[in-house]
Amino acid sequence: MIERLCIVGVGLIGGSLARALRRAGFVREIVGASRSAEHLQKAVELGVIDRYETELSRAVRGADMVFVAVPLGAMASVFAAIRDSLEPEAVVTDGGSAKASVVADAERAFGEVPGWFVPGHPIAGTERSGVEASMPDLYQGRRVILTPTPETSVDALNKVRAMWQAAGAQVREMEVEHHDEVLAATSHLPHMLAFALVESLARMSEQREIFEYAAGGFRDFTRIASSDPVMWRDICLANRDALVSMADRFRNDLDALTDAIRNRDETRILKIFQDAKAARDAFAG
Ligand code: NAP
Repeated sequence: MIERLCIVGVGLIGGSLARALRRAGFVREIVGASRSAEHLQKAVELGVIDRYETELSRAVRGADMVFVAVPLGAMASVFAAIRDSLEPEAVVTDGGSAKASVVADAERAFGEVPGWFVPGHPIAGTERSGVEASMPDLYQGRRVILTPTPETSVDALNKVRAMWQAAGAQVREMEVEHHDEVLAATSHLPHMLAFALVESLARMSEQREIFEYAAGGFRDFTRIASSDPVMWRDICLANRDALVSMADRFRNDLDALTDAIRNRDETRILKIFQDAKAARDAFAG
């Protein structure tokens, strides 16, 4: 049970955690914080948070749990703003989509990687942003990856695990670097490709016609290009090394497929498509 939860960044991710924990009866009071009083007032009206502060140092006072759910580019400034006002027993965790950059930001802001800081990442989301898009079921049955560092205290880890379980999530643990490699492959590269494809088509002179005839497959493939550009810019930069190496690898494979098509290599094309279908069918069940 959390007495006072402070959520910094009451958008899709922060707002959904608030809704889930409130519904589960796992939290007594939720204080929201971010830059815009207007956004926070909306969160109060929607019943997502009980009250808010736009001054982060005030928001974290008295909180036993602090969840930071801002874009990755804002993590460092948030940590610096809350540093001197955290309660001695407070546990701080985050929901950022890349982990090495957040741990580095925490180390810089707090002077060390604190034992009470538990880096985390819910593997759930949508292409929509803001508190209006938040929902109590977002984490139901979904994975949350916690990436404790060697410094992370067992007590803090247990508290954050219990919080996510109360929100309906299945909690897994991973090393920071491994998390960033896995997510570069499964999430960050696909978003990069979707943004690149749609932007490339949008620059073609026939774009009106192209989008007019875009059918289900194109919609499915490109849905994630409607995601928030600022958030995804931050993710790409935060996980730059793993993403660039995954993109290089993919570029080689795309070149190989393009060559097979150019050379009318039926066997090669069919093999690539069959292997892809088998892998997709296996994981999608
Ligand atoms: P979002 O809906 O846009 O919410 C972000 C929130 O952060 C907003 O409420 C914004 O409020 C606040 N914020 C932005 N800059 C801030 C700053 N400098 N100081 C304080 N508050 C600030 O974004 P989201 O989708 O919830 O993403 C939040 C985090 O979760 C990101 O780190 C993202 O990588 C991660 N994540 C996202 C997904 C996804 O699918 N969306 C999935 C997993 C993890 P104000 O405008 O009022 O400041």
